[in-house]
Amino acid sequence: MLIVQKFGGSSVADNERVLRVAKRITDTYRQGNKVVAVLSAQGDTTDDLYEKAYSVNPNASKRELAMLLSTGEQQSVALMSMAIHGLGYPAVSLTGIQAGIYSSSAHENARIRRIEPGRIQTELDKNNIVLIAGFQGVNRYGDITTLGRGASDTTAAAIAAVLGADLCEIYTDVEGVYTADPRVVKNARKIGELSFDEMLELASLGAKVLATRSVEMAKKYHVKLVVRSSFTDAPGTEIKEECKVENTFISGLAVDKDVASISLIGLRDRPGIAFRIFSLLAKERISVDIILQSIGRDNTKDISFTVAKSDLKQALAALETAKNAIGFTDITHNAGIAKLSVVGAGMASNPGVASKMFEALSDAGINIMMISTSEIKISVLIDAHDADRAANAVHDRFFMENEFEFAEKF
Ligand code: ADP
Ligand code: ASP
Ligand code: MG
Repeated sequence: MLIVQKFGGSSVADNERVLRVAKRITDTYRQGNKVVAVLSAQGDTTDDLYEKAYSVNPNASKRELAMLLSTGEQQSVALMSMAIHGLGYPAVSLTGIQAGIYSSSAHENARIRRIEPGRIQTELDKNNIVLIAGFQGVNRYGDITTLGRGASDTTAAAIAAVLGADLCEIYTDVEGVYTADPRVVKNARKIGELSFDEMLELASLGAKVLATRSVEMAKKYHVKLVVRSSFTDAPGTEIKEECKVENTFISGLAVDKDVASISLIGLRDRPGIAFRIFSLLAKERISVDIILQSIGRDNTKDISFTVAKSDLKQALAALETAKNAIGFTDITHNAGIAKLSVVGAGMASNPGVASKMFEALSDAGINIMMISTSEIKISVLIDAHDADRAANAVHDRFFMENEFEFAEKF
């Protein structure tokens, strides 16, 4: 078999862990498999490098940031290769460029465009274990790019796709994908199987156990993904096209703290205003999530919406500049919020989900600022201070109580 294994930052955080992972990789190799391992930077290296960069220059250029950040992953693959040699096995480490990973030009948040796997293939043919630096690529100008936070998952899924791997294992610091972040929700349970679509929703709504793009990639190229622990041998979570229906029709919940809301107050109530606001933001390449329009004073209206925290400054500046063209009296923002979502493919056919979620929040005394729904998810915006408490309350309402009744309805 050809197996791609990805190890996250905490799995390779120190020497002992590097050696443990080396053992796992070589065990897989020894069993007769071809192995490609994608590694992240050790522990908090990426955060530390960001901090270093911004302390030298708070406006560090994205090109140089990518140059610096990519060194974290390079350290990991070189060290892992040395550790594997020490165990008596053949291995070779490759940077993203050496592995033929070509990306779009956006330096710090680039997308993989294509992979030329010639070098990887040559090394595999030589019976080498191939170690690839995650999270990085090269753009058409020959500059190093990085692929966005958490993107070593994406590197792994993309490599698995292009090589036609039999399996892509994502090794991390929890035993799989849970019904909620197990570090926050104490009753969270491990999920055995999950469909690509459900995982895609969970990931995009803030469950950082897998990067969203990695799931997109795996779905598109039919890569079988398994999320499991690098510290235990427990079976993990399989993510695939079709999966058996589990007990509940809610697959899980996710919390995203990387959100901020903006409200424009006193807009004229006439056609074209929303278009002006959101086309302006689109031009700035800022994605908008939940949008709420409400009636303001004196025949005016207010529009509130959410953006990623990292886009807040730029969004406010752009809107402020266009104040007269859009025509609002006031602009306010709030970066102290979080988005809590419940996700499940079986939700569409059951009308009780929203009310159950709102009841749990109401019982916990938690105020809802905005609501947004789709076929397979319901999201609410709440105060960030309430996020962990809300996640526990909503989780337990769905997963600890009346489970029987819900399973029957489904
Ligand atoms: P890695 O460094 O291995 O990529 P990450 O920190 O990116 O690890 O992702 C793993 C973390 O994701 C877990 O430690 C956990 O706190 C968090 N997490 C959030 N939601 C979930 C979930 N639904 N299931 C499992 N883990 C989750
Ligand atoms: N090291 C990068 C990050 O911290 C990529 C990754 O871990 O997947 O975001
Ligand atoms: Mg990660």
